[in-house]
Amino acid sequence: MNVLVINCGSSSLKFQFIETEDQRVLVRGLCERIGIDGSAFEYKKETGDKKASKIEMKDHNDAVAVVLSMLTDKEDGVIDDLAKIDAVGHRVVHGGEKFKEAVLINDEVIKEIEEVSDLAPLHNPAALLGIRACMDQMGNIPQVGVFDTAFHQTMEPESYLYAIPYDYYEKYKIRRYGFHGTSHEYVANRAAQILGKDISTLKIIVCHIGNGASMSAVKYGKCIDTSMGFTPLAGLVMGTRSGDIDPAIITYLMKKENMTADEVVSMLNKQSGVLGLSGVSSDYRDVIDAEKNGDQKAKKAMDVFILRIVKYIGAYMAELDGVDAVAFTAGAGENSVSIRERIGEKLGFLGVTLDKEKNKAARGVEGFIGGDDDKVKLMVIPTNEEYAIAEQTVSLLKR
Ligand code: ADP
Repeated sequence: MNVLVINCGSSSLKFQFIETEDQRVLVRGLCERIGIDGSAFEYKKETGDKKASKIEMKDHNDAVAVVLSMLTDKEDGVIDDLAKIDAVGHRVVHGGEKFKEAVLINDEVIKEIEEVSDLAPLHNPAALLGIRACMDQMGNIPQVGVFDTAFHQTMEPESYLYAIPYDYYEKYKIRRYGFHGTSHEYVANRAAQILGKDISTLKIIVCHIGNGASMSAVKYGKCIDTSMGFTPLAGLVMGTRSGDIDPAIITYLMKKENMTADEVVSMLNKQSGVLGLSGVSSDYRDVIDAEKNGDQKAKKAMDVFILRIVKYIGAYMAELDGVDAVAFTAGAGENSVSIRERIGEKLGFLGVTLDKEKNKAARGVEGFIGGDDDKVKLMVIPTNEEYAIAEQTVSLLKR
């Protein structure tokens, strides 16, 4: 099937047009600065042909029109008719407690996504703009919502409740939701395939280490815990996000620095993590380079970053009551030989022996990076969220 995968931000729209049987990305592209002066469109086809142009897009409706007209363009397009698009899969960040799996979008679903928008005020409204634009312009072509939170909905209350008055959970739905779910699910399933075992027999820890980073504990195919929380600020130390901190720091800083609550939270989201600690960059590569040049703050930043991941591995191993595989994915998880090495060196307690050669070889490709005889398998599995969205879209429609 041909699935158009759409991922909308407040001023951007990323897309991939995927032929799912052969996992071919026929074309991928990006609309940027939607609604802002200087909006631009670029795409790259499977053939390698690419184009970038300035096109005025005053809203997401315009952006969808630009994408659809490119797909069907006589010269540049990849299909001759919109009807060749079998479905659209939309990435939606927050599905609240309502959406536990992908869903066919209709007016009722739109209302429900709107209702949980309060929980992701920057993301869900953007997704809705893309959904509405596609519904308006694509007739009866099925539109499917795939939620970042859905995979984590199998968590039990013991994992998702915060120990604050229960009323706040009932009144405001304050709880752990977790994010990156599409990636965690894809990687856990892929790990099982690579291991040649049924996922219903496996305990897997997935480390999604990108600029945003999260981990999950997956027991017999179901997520039982994850490191992000009510928002994507919790858990691991990230490029610019603090991850877990003592919440009392917030009011302390508000008083000391005369900051508003929003200013502190913005600082925790945008100026913290390895950027905040090192003062160098939010990109781990830059921080590692600075560390190599003797920058002590950069070293401390990376040490804190690594230790947090190791702590979560230990915690999840306890929760899972053992572990069969630890899988690394996303920007740094897939590509950073040194980050994986530093984590691997601290996993001796698991009986894991990091194989330096294999670790070097597994740069952006699937592979095992531990010793052949290790009971716990260390793996690298590049994530593919767009393909996972297309796959979920197809499997929903085939039901
Ligand atoms: P996100 O989707 O959260 O923006 P990605 O999964 O695309 O993140 O990861 C991007 C991040 O991955 C970059 O910020 C960079 O720090 C990190 N990264 C990519 N390659 C490497 C590498 N070789 N070494 C260290 N970090 C890397």
